Amino acid sequence: MAITQKRLAKAAGVTQGMISKFLNGQRRPRWFRAKKLAAITGTAPELWMEGSPDEIQAAVCRPAHRVICGWCRRIKDVELKRWTDLRLAIPPGGDPPDISHGVCPRCEDDQSSKDPGNNGDRGE
Ligand SMILES: [Zn+2]
Repeated sequence: MAITQKRLAKAAGVTQGMISKFLNGQRRPRWFRAKKLAAITGTAPELWMEGSPDEIQAAVCRPAHRVICGWCRRIKDVELKRWTDLRLAIPPGGDPPDISHGVCPRCEDDQSSKDPGNNGDRGE
């Protein structure tokens, strides 16, 4: 399901009128608001600060935006703000068309906690 302007406005703490101005490119959100909008919609704050109206609308109007972890294949449901097992989130047969790739906190932690001294390809 796509997020509605009403829900977006409520979650971001602004009026619906303001949301439509953001979507039309008539107004730009401040940084903290852009970050909030980005978190809600699963987009980047820069999109709200610098993106074209087309880009912003496409990002907001697409069906529930999801991120897949490239390591463990769990999926983040942006609306629910949690990572779930791939098999529960999407049917088998490949990635949904509008999914982006990322790294979940667990795998990110895994990667960064590896002993850096063990890593032979560090430059300096
Ligand atoms: Zn992961």
